[in-house]
Amino acid sequence: MDRKIPYKIYLKETEMPRQWYNMRADMINKPAPLLNPETLQPLTEADLEPMFCKELCRQELDDTTPYFDIPQEILNFYRMYRPSPLVRAYCLEEMLDTPAHIYYKFEGNNTSGSHKLNSAIAQAYYAKQQGLKGLTTETGAGQWGTALSMASAYFGLDCNVYMVRVSYEQKPFRREVMRTYGASVVPSPSTQTEVGRKILEEFPGTGGSLGCAISEAVEAASKKEGYRYALGSVLNQVLLHQSIIGLETKAALDKYDIKADVVIGCAGGGSNLAGLIAPFVRDKIKGINDCDIIAVEPASCPSLTRGVYKYDYCDTGMVCPLQKMYTLGNGFIPSASHAGGLRYHGMSSTLSQLYHDKIISARTAIQTEVFDTAQEFARVEGILPAPESAHAIKVAIDEALECKKTGEAKNIVFGLTGTGYFDMYAYKRFNDGDMTDYVPTDAELAKGFATIPDLEINR
Ligand SMILES: *Cc1c(COP(=O)(O)O)cnc(C)c1O
Repeated sequence: MDRKIPYKIYLKETEMPRQWYNMRADMINKPAPLLNPETLQPLTEADLEPMFCKELCRQELDDTTPYFDIPQEILNFYRMYRPSPLVRAYCLEEMLDTPAHIYYKFEGNNTSGSHKLNSAIAQAYYAKQQGLKGLTTETGAGQWGTALSMASAYFGLDCNVYMVRVSYEQKPFRREVMRTYGASVVPSPSTQTEVGRKILEEFPGTGGSLGCAISEAVEAASKKEGYRYALGSVLNQVLLHQSIIGLETKAALDKYDIKADVVIGCAGGGSNLAGLIAPFVRDKIKGINDCDIIAVEPASCPSLTRGVYKYDYCDTGMVCPLQKMYTLGNGFIPSASHAGGLRYHGMSSTLSQLYHDKIISARTAIQTEVFDTAQEFARVEGILPAPESAHAIKVAIDEALECKKTGEAKNIVFGLTGTGYFDMYAYKRFNDGDMTDYVPTDAELAKGFATIPDLEINR
């Protein structure tokens, strides 16, 4: 096998992107506007300012500016763990005996273990700039809470994390990493907030959910002077910050004149996928390179593939803005899947619009097959992947095997969003043969759909 392309394509520091890219500026059909949950009118910066920092409000609503300069302080932090490598998966290709060339962008090379740090540091920076005291947030699987804890520590901000109770109990070490970085961590639902107390009264002993933890963190931020809320996915600002992944990937491919034929990423709220694909979507819209873009979601939480395209709340407590998105309903409680980062009822409005316009496609993956893939990948490529990331690996392998049938030497690029060191409980279930697959029935999905608000615009 010829190995002219290095195993790892790194960019030099001087080649690193100095701007983020906002795909929405180039989209012909823009995502529908966010709505104020009280007035149901398009959201203004003033509506958002009690919740998020000023600059982030501006980024959230801007769908015309294509490039945003990355502030120097954020670039400095990025340089501690970026550029991340684009790896040529030679060993995987050999094992599959495929003519395809497989590349993955590895975002697990930082202590938080995932891509989430790319946005956490930006959100903490703008909070510091504005002279705030601290940030509140929720975390499900724990990756986002860890990233925001690290970022807050760097800028000397207080960080309060509402951690979904099941994770709080199942992942004590995640919790301790956050505390080591100085964050306070409470299990959600908690008795600290009104919405938490209400949910506990209604469902005593509940393990909590991401939607519920979001409601608690938003309430906490609104009641504490000098605090704002930070969210790790779904929002436009997060997608913007994550574009660093795609811009680096594209720059690395360009160095060796490689044209991507297929780009694949896992999709929870959609931030890593949107970040990875941003420059490829741009090229597709501009007619420069028409590659296949595939979102992979768990069969247990299939918002793109089985959801409906409607306005819905981003959280269970219905305090967050409404987004037009592919959704399973804000009241949909996903099964206790082991890919915690993908257990969200909706999909970012930008990805939803791209999916609706058929610029991207979507597939589902079944949990035990995902873990089979994760194990296979770990054994040949060495990296122990996060279960979320393994969804993308699964489809990359499917695509490479398809190439084996057709003899095509496609360039397949996928996002390896993080490591699985804190997911060993899930790996244990898999190794012990105790892991089960759950796919919701149509009747179960109907229950979730019934929680979508019955608004004029949704009819
Ligand atoms: C959070 C997370 C995801 C999913 O979130 P997106 O916003 O859809 O990217 C995927 N992989 C890892 C490792 C995560 O931590």
